[in-house]
Amino acid sequence: MSSVIASSVEEHHPGPQTQERGQRAVFCGLTSIIWLHRRIQDAFFLVVGSRTCAHLIQSAAGVMIFAEPRFATAILSERDLAGMADCHEELDRVVGELISRRGGINRLFLVGSCPSEVIKLDLETAAAKLQVKHENRVRISAFSGSGIETTFTQGEDQCLKSTVAELPSLASGEQNLIVLGTVSDIVEDQFRRLFDDLGIGNVSFYPGRKAGDLPAVGKGTRVIAAQPFVGETARALIDRGADLISAPFPLGAEGSKSWFEAVASVYDVPQERVQQILELPYQRAKRALAPHRAKLEGKRVHFLPDSQLEIPMARFLSEECGLEVSEIGTPFHDQLVMQGELARLAKDVSIVEGQDLDPALARVRESRPDLTVCGMGIANALESEGLRTKWSIELVFSPVQGFDQAGDLAALFAKPLVRQDILEVGSWS
Ligand code: SF4
Repeated sequence: MSSVIASSVEEHHPGPQTQERGQRAVFCGLTSIIWLHRRIQDAFFLVVGSRTCAHLIQSAAGVMIFAEPRFATAILSERDLAGMADCHEELDRVVGELISRRGGINRLFLVGSCPSEVIKLDLETAAAKLQVKHENRVRISAFSGSGIETTFTQGEDQCLKSTVAELPSLASGEQNLIVLGTVSDIVEDQFRRLFDDLGIGNVSFYPGRKAGDLPAVGKGTRVIAAQPFVGETARALIDRGADLISAPFPLGAEGSKSWFEAVASVYDVPQERVQQILELPYQRAKRALAPHRAKLEGKRVHFLPDSQLEIPMARFLSEECGLEVSEIGTPFHDQLVMQGELARLAKDVSIVEGQDLDPALARVRESRPDLTVCGMGIANALESEGLRTKWSIELVFSPVQGFDQAGDLAALFAKPLVRQDILEVGSWS
């Protein structure tokens, strides 16, 4: 039985698709803690890792002066790494202290790293034991943010998947909708209003603002992804009886419209009502996009693999902003969640899954696109060669989903090109 519904498009990209394996240049899954701790406002993320991990998190998340941070690193010492100390005892102590000191924390995530993985520290079992000890006080689970296998957005997938077993079962005969993947509070509020207007009730956002916002799941649950990097969590929800709604991601005017239409069609909302409700925000989004489209149209964009947002962003830029896509590099191409996007891409666009840094950069240098969307580590090198870049991590940190963010999303891509124009004019004056 199929667990994917409302798939009104072809399932596979008909263009060239290849895989590359080699040197990678992406952040690890620990990076996801930065947006997850902002989203789940009573969760604490305890990384079990090295000083390097602590530095990554601290420098990426910035220093919070007025609030106590809700992330920390339990640093594995050389004695731990050499197997000369009992890491579990130490972890017990650190968690005990944390829980007694931080009254507002309702969920603790133990986050694995490369070092904890190398010494085979079983954090899932540790979390289960700690859960028994602190049963009445806080929910505890574990996930891996290790850079050995994960790219930075996969950290969120691992985090959410670690809580799927805890979701309550949906009562027989009931229906609900889960919007899967972190969106900002403002996007959640806008989406809720539109779902209300469409008459679609019992909607949960997962993850929610509070750790206790755990949606029920079972037969009668529909899942729609708001982010493209939640494939494993989607599969875990499907295993619990949910159906995944296939749709493009809610990026831009067209993407957002198709996303809501896909949900509405599963709920049998009359076409006329759907068009009536979506028309106003759709037109508003088109108007907000127009001035940016004028700057972007006809330009060439190249995606290096980084965030897993590459395929939907390429669709948005080509379909809604008139850019030509020279190549879509993506660290991991999940066919399950990407179904709704593929048929909307131009047939000759090549998709390269995985990464081999040197040949990937050679292709950028050869094609010299107007804009390269890439990781922060690569951007400076390309900028110094006169190529304009956009950090893909910005697309994860900024609220970009939905009709009301369509203009802002296009502006993110237009900004480096506008800056270039100003520099060029400046150099002549
Ligand atoms: S988890 Fe691995 S890749 Fe990430 S900061 Fe720690 S050591 Fe580096």
